[in-house]
Amino acid sequence: MQSTNDIRRAFLDYFAANDHQVMPSAPLVPYNDPTLMFVNAGMVPFKNVFTGLETPPAPRAASSQKCVRAGGKHNDLDNVGYTARHLTLFEMLGNFSFGDYFKERAIELAWGMVTKELGLDKDRLCVTVYHTDDEAAGFWKKIAGLPDDRIIRIATKDNFWAMGADGPCGPCSEIFWDHGPAIAGGPPGSPDEDGDRFVEIWNLVFMQHLQEADQIVSDLPRPSIDTGMGLERIATVMQGVHSVFETDTFRALIAASEDKSGAKAEGDKAASHRVIADHLRSTSFLIADGVLPSNEGRGYVLRRIMRRAMRHAHLLGAAEPLMHRLVPALVQEMGQAYPELPRAQALIQEVLEREETRFRQTLDKGLRLLDEETASLGEGDSLPGETAFKLYDTFGFPYDLTEDALRARGIGVDKAGFDAAMAQQKAAARAAWKGSGAAADGEVWFDIAEREGATEFTGYASTEGEGRV
Ligand code: ATP
Ligand code: MG
Ligand code: MG
Ligand code: MG
Repeated sequence: MQSTNDIRRAFLDYFAANDHQVMPSAPLVPYNDPTLMFVNAGMVPFKNVFTGLETPPAPRAASSQKCVRAGGKHNDLDNVGYTARHLTLFEMLGNFSFGDYFKERAIELAWGMVTKELGLDKDRLCVTVYHTDDEAAGFWKKIAGLPDDRIIRIATKDNFWAMGADGPCGPCSEIFWDHGPAIAGGPPGSPDEDGDRFVEIWNLVFMQHLQEADQIVSDLPRPSIDTGMGLERIATVMQGVHSVFETDTFRALIAASEDKSGAKAEGDKAASHRVIADHLRSTSFLIADGVLPSNEGRGYVLRRIMRRAMRHAHLLGAAEPLMHRLVPALVQEMGQAYPELPRAQALIQEVLEREETRFRQTLDKGLRLLDEETASLGEGDSLPGETAFKLYDTFGFPYDLTEDALRARGIGVDKAGFDAAMAQQKAAARAAWKGSGAAADGEVWFDIAEREGATEFTGYASTEGEGRV
């Protein structure tokens, strides 16, 4: 069996041997894009290169980039633990051409990587292309020899990439692996494509146009290539398993979670262990890159992830704070590839332990309230927004934690009611303050208090930039 660490190495070695410069992973907090919460694709550190603002480090590059998709446009948080393929933190293996090679060579390199280097069975691979991209379809036929019915034309945005309303854009082509008929789901573009049978492993973006205000205005004089393959997904395929949580890395983390919590990963406890293992990775990497839990911005996203993991630790019946005790296993698995982890290990453990100790003081009470309020509810019902707000305001339950807590029972949450309760409380607090006679200065104080206190953070959902491959 090829380990995840071996596969990362094999990918980078292959592209180095094909004249690509291997670049280290950039930190998760983007240095070049204030509108983006976290780096969420391998191309993000190269955005300014693709737009011509920065000179490329080399004509061709490759990397394994840590990515977080837990907020904003690409939010996979709710999927984690429940699909076979989504993680909040994953590594994106990518190769890039900055005005150097284009479509044909990109397809040739990708096909060589999956079928020759990794030795995957060609009969279980299929690809998609953008419906008008005859060129890409032609190269897939010529290079891979795939039959027409496994070169699937897709007309949706899934196969058209754009950096934003203005900037480079172009069609993309995705490579899928067929996990076999035992798993439900159909090929991409079919009515049952949402199943987990056909899993996207690699996305190739052909940047060939320039757009302004969402309209293509010209062709790029020197088109570029941006690709991304999920390391954990390709490891899943290589290790002959179906879910990313069954790969070597996650087996080790789940084993540590079983060991330290004293609960086996069986029955409904299995999902809790998966969530814990995933959230351990994202929270640890975020802390190592300088993000600390807080009530706004990046820190609030981190806190939401942490608290969600901590509720699952509680569900497992862990008597003591759990998360910080799993960090050594993570460092063991990933510390060599990511030296920032062992470097920040003491800090990561301290932050996790402090947050979990604090949160456990109200978690119990909050969960009891939630139980009482939902005792008479069943599948298809929803929790009043007022109650979700009380859990948030009094017990520090981020909204999505309440949602996650009710998910297994099929109970939803009244989001509009939650938002209304939040708005009402803010308005009332402001009015009360104004009523006290304080004028303009009071407003400033109130804003600071609101930022630093236990109130909400709303910025991440609205303005996030595009960083998808
Ligand atoms: P999906 O459709 O499965 O959600 P995507 O099209 O959103 O994937 P891309 O933006 O194309 O993903 O990212 C490139 C690659 O990164 C994907 O082909 C996949 O292998 C991997 N990837 C994307 N999101 C995740 C995730 N949440 N967890 C693990 N790997 C991921
Ligand atoms: Mg996605
Ligand atoms: Mg996709
Ligand atoms: Mg994709």
